[in-house]
Formats: sequence, C-alpha cells, structure tokens
Amino acid sequence: MDFQINEEQKMIQQAARDFAQIELFPGVIERDEQQAFPEEQVKKMGELGFLGMMVDPKYGGRGLDTLRYVLMMEELSKVDASSSVIVSVNNSLVCWGLETFGTEAQKEKYLRPLASGAKIGAFCLSEPEAGSDATSQKTTAIDKGDHYILNGTKNWITNGNSASVYLVIAQTHPEKGYKGINALIVEKGMPGFEIGPKENKLGIRGSDTHSLIFNDVKIPKENRIGEDGFGFKFAMKTLTGGRIGIAAQALGIAAGAYEMAKEYAQQRKAFGTEIANHQAIRFKLVDMHTQIEAARLLVYKAAKDKDEGKNYVASSAMAKLFASQVAMDTTIEAVQIFGGNGFVKEYHVERLMRDAKITQIYEGTSEIQKMVISREILRK
Ligand SMILES: Cc1cc2nc3c(=O)[nH]c(=O)nc-3n(C[C@H](O)[C@H](O)[C@H](O)COP(=O)(O)OP(=O)(O)OC[C@H]3O[C@@H](n4cnc5c(N)ncnc54)[C@H](O)[C@@H]3O)c2cc1C
Repeated sequence: MDFQINEEQKMIQQAARDFAQIELFPGVIERDEQQAFPEEQVKKMGELGFLGMMVDPKYGGRGLDTLRYVLMMEELSKVDASSSVIVSVNNSLVCWGLETFGTEAQKEKYLRPLASGAKIGAFCLSEPEAGSDATSQKTTAIDKGDHYILNGTKNWITNGNSASVYLVIAQTHPEKGYKGINALIVEKGMPGFEIGPKENKLGIRGSDTHSLIFNDVKIPKENRIGEDGFGFKFAMKTLTGGRIGIAAQALGIAAGAYEMAKEYAQQRKAFGTEIANHQAIRFKLVDMHTQIEAARLLVYKAAKDKDEGKNYVASSAMAKLFASQVAMDTTIEAVQIFGGNGFVKEYHVERLMRDAKITQIYEGTSEIQKMVISREILRK
C-alpha cells in the first residue's frame, strides 16, 4: 500500500496549484459578488487540458487517470470552487458519460470539442419534482420514429447558459418506470430549447446555474446515448464517478480554508502571543488537519478503485459523504480562527464556507449517499 503520490503526479498537482494562484485567485471575490462566470479562466483551463483530463488523446483529451484528475480538482477548489465545479461537470459527467457510452459518431461530434474546452457541457437530470428521487422524471421524450420530441423543465443545471452540449434525461415509456428513461444529447439553439434566468445562489456563485425549458424540441434518434431505456442507468453510472470529482472539490475547499487559517493563526496576535500558541486554536488546527487527511485518503481510494476497475459505488459515495462534511466543519472553524476578519469577504474563508455547503447537496445529498452506501454494505 503506497500512500505517496509520485513525482509526475506532483507535477500535475503543482501545475494546477500554479494555475489556481495565478489565474483563479485574482478576481475570485469580485466574480463571487457579481455572479460572474469565469469565462477567460475556463478558456485557459481548456488550453491546459483541464476540461478533458481523462478523455483518450484520440478524442483530444489528456488521457490521464482519475487520481490525477482529483489532484487537479483539489488544487483548483482550494482557491475557486465555482471554477472547479465547471471543470468537474465537464470532465466527470459529460465527457466521461459520452466516452464510456456514446457512439463513435457522438464522440467525434460532441466529445472532441468538449475535451478540448472548445465547448462546455451540462448534465441535466434534476427537475422541479425530481431531485433525490430521480426516477420521477416528468420531462418526456416521445418516440417519433427517427426522432424524439422533448418537453419539460430541468432545474439547477450547472453550466446552464455557458454550455453548448446538454445531456438530458427524459422519460420515453412511463409504463416502464425508470427502465423507460433515455439520455439524449441536446444542442444549444435547437428550436424550442429555452434557458431560464440565472439562480442567485449562496455559494459557487461564479458558476452559472439555470433551469432549462424544452418545448417540442426535436432531437434526432442518433443523439440517444445507449439502448432505448438506458437513460436512468446512464445517469446513475455517470453520477457514481461524478461524486469522486465533487468529493475532491470538497477536499480542496477544506484544505484551502485550513491552509489560510493556519497561516493566519501564526501571524495574528492576542494576549501577547500568536493565536496559534493558544491551545484552543492549536487543537482546532489539529482537528482540521486530521479530518482533511482522512478525507484525502478516502478520495484517493475512490479514484484508485475506479482506475483499477473495481466496484467504486460505495467508495465514491463514502468519499463524497465524508469530504463534504469535512468541508463544512473545516470552513466553519476557519471563519472562527479568523475572528471578525473571517466574516468579511477580503479574507476568503467566508466564501469557502458558503461554497462548502453545496458539496453536501449536489450529485446526491448526504442522505442519498448514505442510502447508496447502506445498499452496498448490506448486500455483502
Ligand atoms: C448549485 C446547484 C447546482 C446543481 N447542478 C446540477 C446539475 O448540473 N445537474 C442536475 O441534474 N442537478 C443539479 N443540481 C440539483 C441537485 O443535484 C439536487 O438539488 C439534489 O439532488 C437534491 O434534490 P432536491 O433539491 O430536489 O432536494 P429533495 O430531493 O427535495 O430533498 C430535500 C431533502 O430531503 C432529503 N431526502 C429526500 N429523499 C430522502 C430519503 N429517501 N431519505 C432521507 N432523506 C431524503 C434530501 O437529502 C434533502 O435533504 C444542482 C443543485 C444546485 C443547488
């Protein structure tokens, strides 16, 4: 069992760290305040290959494994979780889903521009009445022979407006329940496809979250992913890997807040000494450090399980469940260590605290992760 990352993995980590400091850090507070999408930064991340990290080079990706992907995700998330969720959705949900289950023609047409960052993707499962219970899809894709007619509304879609390619889950055969669901590739600009207003969010405010409305949108049959009725399985399999990306995001948010709090505690003085010399603060830092290290091991383990072809359903859910709790706990403590400064925007930790919360909600809430894990452990 080797707990160390090697030199080449460290280089990827360092490249992501440098990028985060040089390109993401400047302006991160303003983007958060103004809910501004990091357009320039996303373009640069595409050029660096961050948007198609795991995609085979024959489709223009970097061809790296999940472990290297999470190393990158952690570093970006230490600084800007709004940018890292854009990266995570594009990599883990959209590119992975298309590469694993798409046809050759779909890969050429859609995966290639997504892997290079020329286009951004979105994954559209949630609806006003179908969140945790994703089987209750109300969006319909009616089979018309050589095409589908898509009607319905999707909620909370990350990259909702910035994307050009949308993987949309919809019900084709309601009588078959979740086995009648399909996944369709929808392009921005298709007649009848409208994008709702941007959500005004607590955290990850730089990412653009929108509802999507489909009114009689005609989707060619060749845009269906997998066999007829594969859509729900597609969504679940894709989300299983996606959770590793979000777990890495949570880990990064926690580690970013911890690093800032540790530095601050060694500078800020109270009662004639640096606050890091007070045991109450030292012990907070110890707890943060220990929790983060435990989360990191779970995240790396889930990534390794996926890379080694093992069953990673439980390990990815455990990594997300635990790392997202650590992100919440650590960022709250970081704000406490910063005192009054923790409560204002210029010290960053209040933003990380707000950003942390979403990691317990999207790609399956913590309660849903427990349902997933319980099914896995009780089956054995
Ligand atoms: C910023 C943001 C970005 C998002 N991005 C995307 C995206 O790109 N694509 C996408 O498809 N979706 C996206 N989502 C949606 C997200 O995945 C859902 O919000 C999430 O799955 C929860 O669904 P819900 O909001 O409908 O909550 P509900 O399902 O209504 O749940 C409400 C509460 O009840 C709990 N609960 C529900 N069922 C059970 C149960 N059986 N046992 C115990 N507790 C239960 C939940 O854990 C939660 O605490 C995003 C959401 C947000 C806020």
